[in-house]
Amino acid sequence: MTIDPKDLRIEGVYPQRQEGYFMQRVKLAAGVLSSAQARSVAAVAERYGRSSIHLTSRGSMEVHWLKEEDLRMVKQEYAKVGLTSRGACGGAVRGITCSSQSAADLPALESLARRLQRHFTGNPRFEGLPKKFKIGIEADYTSGRHLIQDVGLIYAGSDAGVTLYDVWIAGGLGREPRPGFLLAERVPEGRIIPLIEAVIAVYARLAPPPKRLKSLVGAFGEDELRRLIEVEPAFREELPSVSGFPDNLMPVTKGGQRLLADIFAGQLTAGQLRKAADFADRYSGGALQVTANQDLAFYLEASADAESAARELTTVVNSLPTAGVPVPFRICPGSHECKMGLAATRDVAGALIAEMSLAARGTVWALSGCPNSCTQPQLAEAGVVVSRLATGEVGARSPRFDLYRRRSAGFGEKVLEQLTFDELTLQARRL
Ligand code: SF4
Repeated sequence: MTIDPKDLRIEGVYPQRQEGYFMQRVKLAAGVLSSAQARSVAAVAERYGRSSIHLTSRGSMEVHWLKEEDLRMVKQEYAKVGLTSRGACGGAVRGITCSSQSAADLPALESLARRLQRHFTGNPRFEGLPKKFKIGIEADYTSGRHLIQDVGLIYAGSDAGVTLYDVWIAGGLGREPRPGFLLAERVPEGRIIPLIEAVIAVYARLAPPPKRLKSLVGAFGEDELRRLIEVEPAFREELPSVSGFPDNLMPVTKGGQRLLADIFAGQLTAGQLRKAADFADRYSGGALQVTANQDLAFYLEASADAESAARELTTVVNSLPTAGVPVPFRICPGSHECKMGLAATRDVAGALIAEMSLAARGTVWALSGCPNSCTQPQLAEAGVVVSRLATGEVGARSPRFDLYRRRSAGFGEKVLEQLTFDELTLQARRL
């Protein structure tokens, strides 16, 4: 029996470039998962896929090479350990992201991310949206990631014990990038869920599929969109503050020690993920995080011996440093697996790294295999987008690259376009 593609998407499944194969994405609130959950993803990749796992720049995990008849079983395997793919693709609220790297801030932000994910996932009120709806929570403005969310929350301190957030809305990248704008400042946490409900209500009512929320800024302007949201009854509602225990999996660490395992292109094997889970059990309270740069982070427990943990980590997760030096480089699957991909991104990035100057190797890069910009190239110090395929004299088609540089708090600017690979390499050597 063939499943309707719409049903597949809401279950977090996309057909792969290769006929008959599928990718299933798991939503991880703030990118955090337990070691038991990591072992479950590893087992799924081994049993139903090809033993490889992809870490995304939104802190999710993807398993490729699944067959249609196995998708239901994969969902059940994930459910056994409290993981879900529901709404990880399609017109729904996606996984709640957090790129904060501060061990002090993360547990509180992760707690809120979990509550939001619980509230908006699998709830029919927030499915069947015109397109995806992205929410991100950040400790501060440094990364600029609040600018690319449908709702971006920035921690804004607290008042009389109540946590406050600045709320930015209607941002997004893709083919028509638009930075979000500030909707409300210092909003108490009890108002965050109803306020997002108000934004979604306006989006669902007024945006034609497949448009994102940002399209309403183009249609109405910021002031009118703000007014439409503010007159929604939910906008001023305030829920009682959350009592009981916090929701975070990450240990609250005294010294704030954080260790990072560099994973080239966010690609790791089931065996490597299982070893990372064992490491998390020994040193970081049984929790690990997929970072915004597609790496794995471990927040050490106060009792952990940081030196032996660092030593052990290098032997536990064998990263794949191209040309000997790990480079912070976000890389999407491109034409390796994605239907939209215009270039073999991992090959392009590997070849580029081999040619990079020392300065370039210390720069944060991002490469997207098409203008959809899944790796957020406009927020990298050096961002590369494969913009099109050009046909050469002998009829062969080769990718052309646009280069972005980010030098301020906003989006990076396109500095060069339509580069051949050799011209792009020259830039990497000169950087
Ligand atoms: S940027 Fe394009 S090629 Fe890369 S994963 Fe996104 S849609 Fe696919």
